[in-house]
This record gives sequence, structure tokens and C-alpha cells, in this order.
Amino acid sequence: MEKLVCISCKTDISTVKGSTMFMCPGCGKFKIIRCGKCRVISADYKCPECGFEGP
Ligand SMILES: [Zn+2]
Ligand SMILES: [Zn+2]
Repeated sequence: MEKLVCISCKTDISTVKGSTMFMCPGCGKFKIIRCGKCRVISADYKCPECGFEGP
């Protein structure tokens, strides 16, 4: 089973409250996982699949 880690800070999101995951808005193929902390600070993320960057 794959570990769910934040795409920005690589934290295991099961330990962070308010974490979220969604499919990449750019390609719709890659699952973007963000921890609650990175959501609060609006950390940047980049899709390794298509290069989409978002806040
Ligand atoms: Zn994070
Ligand atoms: Zn993508």
C-alpha cells in the first residue's frame, strides 16, 4: 500500500489534521496530496506528471 505523503513537505499526512488530496487540475492523472500545514501556508506544489504548478 502506498504511503500518503504531502507533495510539498513529504510529511505523512495521516499525522496531520486537515490534509487533502485531489487529482491534478492539469492532467487529472496524478494524485496531489497536501498536508494541513501546507494548505495553511499555501505552499507551492508541482505535478511530476505534467508540470502543473499551483498554490
Ligand atoms: Zn506539507
Ligand atoms: Zn498533472
